[in-house]
Amino acid sequence: MKDYHASCHCGRVRFSFRSPEINTGCRCDCSLCMRRAAVLSPRYIPRSDFTPHSDPSDLGVYLWNEKVLSNYFCKFCGIFTYIGDGENAKDGYRVNLGCVEGLDALALEIRCIDGKSIPVVEGAG
Ligand SMILES: [Zn+2]
Repeated sequence: MKDYHASCHCGRVRFSFRSPEINTGCRCDCSLCMRRAAVLSPRYIPRSDFTPHSDPSDLGVYLWNEKVLSNYFCKFCGIFTYIGDGENAKDGYRVNLGCVEGLDALALEIRCIDGKSIPVVEGAG
């Protein structure tokens, strides 16, 4: 397991997580991911391994997909930081790898998630 630290562009939103070393990233072709074009973590990080930003008032949240996917972004610089899945993120978090220190998101092997044709409620896994 490795410790990863991440931040938004302006640096106000910070978060960290533990994960097996990240060698791959995901892109998804659902209607939301197409627009933000982020490279996502290859899997959801369990809530127990994830430390979200400490001040929720810095974060905007866009609820999507039957309102079970919480898409968090910095209210100041607008950068999408992570997705919390399920109510209160009970199923974990998927992160914007572009926010992660020491990781070149565009150098990773990219897998594409067929989010467009996955039934919306089951999410993009
Ligand atoms: Zn910011």
